[in-house]
Amino acid sequence: MSKYKTIVGLEIHLQPKTKSKMFCSCNAAYFGAEGNTYVCPVCLGLPGALPVPNKIAIEKALQIALALNCKINLESKFDRKNYFYPDLPKGYQISQYDQPLGYDGYIDLQVNNKVRRVRITRVHMEEDTGKSIHGDKETMLDYNKSGLPLIEIVTEPDFDDKDLIDVFAKRMRQIIRYTRVSDADMEKGQLRYELNISLAEKTATELPNYKVEVKNIGSISLLQKVLESEVERHTKILNSGETPVQETRGTRDMSGKTYSQRVKEEANDYRYFPEPDIPPLLFTQDYIDELKSSLPKLPDQLLAEYAELGITGEVAETIVAEYERAGLFADFMQTAQTFGSSDKNLMPEIAKLIAGDLTVSQEDTGKDWSELIADKAQVIKVLELKLAKKLNSSSVKDLVKLIVAGKFASTDELDEYLAAEKLLIDDTAFDLDAMAKKFVDADPTARERFSKNPNMAMFFVGQIMREAKGAVNPQAAKEAVEKALRS
Ligand code: ZN
Ligand code: MN
Repeated sequence: MSKYKTIVGLEIHLQPKTKSKMFCSCNAAYFGAEGNTYVCPVCLGLPGALPVPNKIAIEKALQIALALNCKINLESKFDRKNYFYPDLPKGYQISQYDQPLGYDGYIDLQVNNKVRRVRITRVHMEEDTGKSIHGDKETMLDYNKSGLPLIEIVTEPDFDDKDLIDVFAKRMRQIIRYTRVSDADMEKGQLRYELNISLAEKTATELPNYKVEVKNIGSISLLQKVLESEVERHTKILNSGETPVQETRGTRDMSGKTYSQRVKEEANDYRYFPEPDIPPLLFTQDYIDELKSSLPKLPDQLLAEYAELGITGEVAETIVAEYERAGLFADFMQTAQTFGSSDKNLMPEIAKLIAGDLTVSQEDTGKDWSELIADKAQVIKVLELKLAKKLNSSSVKDLVKLIVAGKFASTDELDEYLAAEKLLIDDTAFDLDAMAKKFVDADPTARERFSKNPNMAMFFVGQIMREAKGAVNPQAAKEAVEKALRS
């Protein structure tokens, strides 16, 4: 056991989906384009160019703030954050300082069967910088990315274990996708994490006197690896009686190892002051209320609703993990209502199917979730038959595959198929006792083995199921076999 506790806060930079950049009309879809072709005087920081804020970008930042349960500043403004770096042509970044769009939010998460709250300090809007490309002898600068809108989300240092970080990072990406604020494509740099980490003695009551920032972490698995390698690095330094250097570090590869980029002797002085070229942002409460009510149902709301239906744990988490998958479940719920299906086990059955076989089908076929099942009533019909013990599980599996492949144009066609293939369990069609006796009698040691190992009965159940082509109730078959074995 380590004698240290880990204290971590996260910063997230998110690129909202917009047509144009944050303060000019340059196309935001720069990714993959030739260097310095998506630029204009505003995003190149030329003297005299005037910024005009992007309304859609601000609206998306407000949506994220609301989805993270933040309070909203009805009066907000932009500020200049002054620092020198070659990828920042103006010599300052337009950001927000003391009046961020959102503040004091939170996310509640289930981690290892405990509810954990992560507090959100603030959500603000800013512009992205350009990109430095370091060669052997020279550094090139590409300003295509300069001036893209960025939403910055800052958490309190509430993370003390890696499971919490993992669950948080995944939920954050879900919320971003559910709200349609961004595709959150981490490979395109649309979602980047920054880890602020320090270690303290377990008994310490105050925050440690140092903090290390690791910037530009582009994937959740890398975030985990960086966390592990930093904890190890800090532990070693602290054990030798030293304090880790307060600095900014970066990653070079996917190993999680970090290297020093910039040592921070003291807190940066960015000489923030209000951006004189942009008037303050004023929002009415009505506008904010409207934005809030237009948010879709978010993962935690859905999880609560699923729990009411008796759907919890892995199955529920799998369904909410993707917006489109949760959408299919919602479609099923509606179809079931339309048909007046009242069996309370139906929705849990559908949930299991979506999280299991349908997820496999979706991956195999590459179809969109919304197009995976053309006629949801067919699946509902099959599952209702299963619940009524008229279809066994392996028939259900096969039928669902056929439904995904579009075999039946209607539920009537499905009915015809069930009848033609004699798939429906009809206990009156077979003399189960006679079948069981036939198979058991054919095996002279069966009764003796059964007395030692009752599970061996399932072998004979399998024989009956095969002979009946699945059209018998497995429970009834099992009872018949056990009766034969005891006789
Ligand atoms: Zn521009
Ligand atoms: Mn930032």
